[in-house]
Amino acid sequence: MEKTEQPLDTSQILDTDLPALLNIRIYPDPMLNQKCEPVIEITREIRTLIQNMFITMYEKNGVGLSANQVGSKYRIFVMDTSQSGDRRRAFINPIIVEGFGEQKWKEGCLSFPGIFATVKRYESIKVEAMNESGGKVELRLEGLDAICFQHETCHLDGITFYDLLGPVQKNLIKKKIANLKK
Ligand code: ZN
Repeated sequence: MEKTEQPLDTSQILDTDLPALLNIRIYPDPMLNQKCEPVIEITREIRTLIQNMFITMYEKNGVGLSANQVGSKYRIFVMDTSQSGDRRRAFINPIIVEGFGEQKWKEGCLSFPGIFATVKRYESIKVEAMNESGGKVELRLEGLDAICFQHETCHLDGITFYDLLGPVQKNLIKKKIANLKK
């Protein structure tokens, strides 16, 4: 998801490989409609991927970024919904266990630069995932955290926010969508 300006925090970069800015896939790149595969083991390759996903997300002022948006097939996304850039969280093999209520947000997406549309999602969610250290995480999320988690989990299933729009909204932004391909 997209967001306002924030500084790049490289203080927590792991001592694995050199940090790198990753290339973000822009719609209609076929990777965006690809269902990702579960992570079996958190290898050095996975840790480097996560490190570089954080760098790329902060650099592009995003609040969330999924692995297939940077050309990887793994079920991983990173997220930081804070304004200060100090709530970095990586979710591996994320699952939405239960959803409650309903909310609508005007969402953006780093794979759809400059495009925003209103999407209806759960107001709060119970989730499970693995963290960067391989530990099990169980959380109840609401507000933007819940929106972002749902947006990114959809990415990992090959579904973009654009795929969730009804015909009226799709029609409203279809010119902008067509311009993305150029
Ligand atoms: Zn997105």
